[in-house]
Amino acid sequence: MTNATITEVQKLQPDAPVRRSQRARDYQQISLYKDVNPLDWEDWHWQLKNRICTKEDLAQVIVLSPEEEEGLKKASGKLSLAITPYWATLMDPEDPNCPIRRQAVPTVYETLVGPHEMVDPCAEDRDSPAPHLVHRYPDRVLLLATEHCAMYCRHCTRRRLVGETNKEDNSPSRFDAALEYLKANKKVRDVLISGGDPLTLEDDVIEDLLRKIRDISHIEFLRLGTRVPVTLPQRINEKLVTMLKKYNPLWMSIHFNHPKEITKRSKIACEMLADAGIPLGSQSVLLKGINDRPYIMKKLVHDLLQIRVRPYYIYQCDPVRGTQHFRTPVAVGINIMEKLRGHTSGYAVPTYVIDGPGGGGKIPVGPNYILSQAKGKYVLRNYKGKIYTYLE
Ligand SMILES: *Cc1c(COP(=O)(O)O)cnc(C)c1O
Ligand code: SF4
Repeated sequence: MTNATITEVQKLQPDAPVRRSQRARDYQQISLYKDVNPLDWEDWHWQLKNRICTKEDLAQVIVLSPEEEEGLKKASGKLSLAITPYWATLMDPEDPNCPIRRQAVPTVYETLVGPHEMVDPCAEDRDSPAPHLVHRYPDRVLLLATEHCAMYCRHCTRRRLVGETNKEDNSPSRFDAALEYLKANKKVRDVLISGGDPLTLEDDVIEDLLRKIRDISHIEFLRLGTRVPVTLPQRINEKLVTMLKKYNPLWMSIHFNHPKEITKRSKIACEMLADAGIPLGSQSVLLKGINDRPYIMKKLVHDLLQIRVRPYYIYQCDPVRGTQHFRTPVAVGINIMEKLRGHTSGYAVPTYVIDGPGGGGKIPVGPNYILSQAKGKYVLRNYKGKIYTYLE
């Protein structure tokens, strides 16, 4: 679409102020789920099977706005509509600006293509030496284990890949070429298993993959990238945790974006993982109108520490097609970092990064603390703006 139409659509909904969202509902308060057995509710397969995938179901949970109605009609491409019943309880039924709702419900803004937007902004497809693998950095690789997720995030950077529509290769041999590549590349010491969401796979499939990677002697660091503790915390059950524990040291990066995502239920999921000795990190995407205020990000990082999740990265929202309405200026992210560093626990301060478009990898950006640098002399400023000289 052209810029003219973008402006037209923006007129429909100028930057609305963020309204304070109401608290999560008990599932029995939602007519669609009022008769659900609590054991079913806690069963992750039930949650997946009963995801909201149609406009009709969605309309029973929230009052659709005109922008959402249009989005549901027009949103095309791969990224499916799928909302777990659990996530649905967190959505404000009345407020289309609810941060939980905006991450899950397509709007008409998704159909617009902004300037500089790309299908594969991080050029992952180009850096793929074998199916399912992205090898960008010398010592670590990204393994895309599945195209499925529990819930599809409207800001997803891999929207070209993830969704329910494609017939996924489920053959047990599908990772063979990737594993062969890893075996042959002695420089790779770190494997990040992501997707899609690897925790939407069955336990035996995950275990098979973990075991095969662990069998490669030069691979020392293993981590899983997932959003399941946030979108489908029921998935983190005793059986899964007992299995994962066998592959320690195993680290986990969880995608949390907003303090509302930290509920009693997601807390239980994270605590089970932490109790199993899995170090947890959070990767958040900076999203306009969702978490782009310093006080919201500060609450998020503080609440994460309370559930033993260490804030790891804040990502600038990648220039992927159809996400212009989520993207903030870089200055917004830098300002958030300015308001965190020094003002709160160092453990609460993540690194703000931009994934270099075209395949540059993660590049840290943040406030500048070095005012000048000359032979043997650094002039620095601290978090309060006071100036200090460090002599080497
Ligand atoms: C993010 C990413 C990694 C892991 O990077 P870290 O900074 O080590 O967390 C590895 N490969 C690719 C392609 C990535 O995008
Ligand atoms: S969970 Fe991750 S991969 Fe899946 S839709 Fe959300 S951002 Fe994309």
